[in-house]
Amino acid sequence: MTFNIITIFPDIFYSYFKESIIKRALKNGLIKINIHNLRDWTEDSHKTVDDKPYGGGIGMVLKVEPIYKTVQFLKKERQKSKNKIQGQARYGAGKKTKVILFTPRGKKFNQRMAYQFSQLDQLIFICGRYEGVDERVAKHIADVELSIGDYVLMGGELPAMIIVEAVARLIPGVLGKPSLLKERISKEKGFIEFQQYTRPEIFSPKKRVKWRVPKVLLSGDHKKIEEWRRKHKKIIASRS
Ligand code: SAM
Repeated sequence: MTFNIITIFPDIFYSYFKESIIKRALKNGLIKINIHNLRDWTEDSHKTVDDKPYGGGIGMVLKVEPIYKTVQFLKKERQKSKNKIQGQARYGAGKKTKVILFTPRGKKFNQRMAYQFSQLDQLIFICGRYEGVDERVAKHIADVELSIGDYVLMGGELPAMIIVEAVARLIPGVLGKPSLLKERISKEKGFIEFQQYTRPEIFSPKKRVKWRVPKVLLSGDHKKIEEWRRKHKKIIASRS
């Protein structure tokens, strides 16, 4: 899975992707993350990526041309590398690219979408800024307009990091044993979450107060533990 992120603030991403599980997944070649500076796709000496909105109003709008050029380039590159390795089993037919435009007006992201995205082989993210992105990007370039919730952020960079995390952890091998991951994905493609505890068995924050781990989890009886987990589970958003 390759994540291609188009942004005017590439530095936002570098430290984040250098940590923890994402770092390991990158090192092990399970995912690839490429950050593309939209300014590299401009043609004027000022590297202009935005302009005033037609009809007036506050703020600036990201222009369509550099976004179009970046997306076209990424799609062509992908096609070239696919042609090169055509016939190799690891590139199953039907796998493909989705171009995602972040906007608070978009479809709300959920776990089922994360699962669907994890089945693709490339995601291209367009991170908006300022007053947003020329609407022709939504109409003619993006496959999906995506929101991460009903609030307005300053840019699409945090949404991009959120989608990378939610999707990457569904790629077999990223979190550890692929078989354990399978058990956690529900039939409806939601993610099964349950309560977790770790040592100590009893935590005493003050005198005569004891916070205990449920006995069943200490019992070693796997059947009972399974039952308890089933009773306390929650399937995280499987509707789309
Ligand atoms: N007026 C713009 C619109 O309706 O799309 C929103 C502009 S917002 C200040 C700047 C950028 O932040 C957006 O273009 C989008 O990429 C990103 N953004 C803000 N809130 C978001 C959200 N809830 N979900 C996804 N992206 C968001």
